[in-house]
Amino acid sequence: MSQVNEEKILETLSTVMDGDQNIVEKGMVQGLQVQDGHVIFAVVVPPSVGADAEPVRKEAEQKVHALDGVLSATVVLTAENAGGASAPGAPQGAPQGGPQGGPQPAADGPLMPGVKTIIAVASGKGGVGKSTTTVNLALALKAQGLKVGLLDADIYGPSMPRMLGITGEPSSSDGQHLDPMENHGVKCMSMGFLVEEETPIIWRGPMAQTALVQMMRDVHWGELDVLLIDMPPGTGDVQLTMAQQVPLTGAVIVSTPQDIALLDARKGLNMFRQVDVPVLGIVENMSYFKCPHCGGRTEVFSHGGAKEEADMLQVNFLGEIPLDIQIRETSDGGHPIVDSQPGSEHATAYKAIAENVWNQACEKLEAKTAAMPKIVQ
Ligand code: ADP
Repeated sequence: MSQVNEEKILETLSTVMDGDQNIVEKGMVQGLQVQDGHVIFAVVVPPSVGADAEPVRKEAEQKVHALDGVLSATVVLTAENAGGASAPGAPQGAPQGGPQGGPQPAADGPLMPGVKTIIAVASGKGGVGKSTTTVNLALALKAQGLKVGLLDADIYGPSMPRMLGITGEPSSSDGQHLDPMENHGVKCMSMGFLVEEETPIIWRGPMAQTALVQMMRDVHWGELDVLLIDMPPGTGDVQLTMAQQVPLTGAVIVSTPQDIALLDARKGLNMFRQVDVPVLGIVENMSYFKCPHCGGRTEVFSHGGAKEEADMLQVNFLGEIPLDIQIRETSDGGHPIVDSQPGSEHATAYKAIAENVWNQACEKLEAKTAAMPKIVQ
């Protein structure tokens, strides 16, 4: 199979017309990235055109996909902002109107006016069970009677559609906003709805960050008590900017005992502290192994590290979750244990952690409200 390059792609895109000019000539193709046969770029249109440009996006995607050497083509439609700079990363088919430049949220009002608290769930690195913890916490908060949403911002491996057992794509009932998908009583929006699962997500930097803002502003979340954000793992620039972009009530850090020892969790902690986001606490995942046959307990990764570390760093220890095949099977199968086995030991542990998280979040919210200037009559 021949290699495809940017030149070849632009040549093909110059056959896609928008009015009497092609989209390359008009400067509508932006953020083009090609990696191992996977192509991604944005088609930028004026906000007034918005979703009407969908046929152009589709044609561009189809033509690039048909090229020899192209394994996947992901093309997002996005709006030019007022300053003329593009805001790539809009969900395809989503309403348009990018943020007003830069990484900050749009200045025209709150991003999600109906959402009371926003909690980021983060980890110093991937594979520690951040998404598994997020989905079970979301279900535990819902079981407490709260209205819960889950925003899957893990651009490197969006797993929420699978963990919540959601298939298909979100639609728009008002033609303005995307409606979040829903299962097990939790509203969910994910990069996974917008990008094919097998497409390696090579969105980086500004594209990913802009997509996050658009997943908040352009999605009809409605009234929520809490929105959990499953952050991309790690503590790099992308994560830092994301943490700055979202009006977070607080952050939860998920870690395995050995990562704590390796300082990964500390990096996460410092990242949020750097941007003045309160850390609600640390969850120790895969804390110990409970044998399904004999019930015996094995401390796989020097259990208890998180608690000690949390004490030392003066941050809350929210609780521990064991390494158990049932946790893996249920969440990977779309029926997380809190929902499918609500009375189980593990579901109870998640519920206790969720209660801790919620209490912490309410405390932070109250502190923030108290710190706000009061209106004196
Ligand atoms: P991350 O979001 O940190 O990359 P995931 O939540 O996707 O990690 O988890 C990685 C894998 O580990 C998944 O297959 C998940 O089912 C499994 N896993 C997570 N937590 C546990 C646990 N406590 N016990 C058993 N398996 C777990």
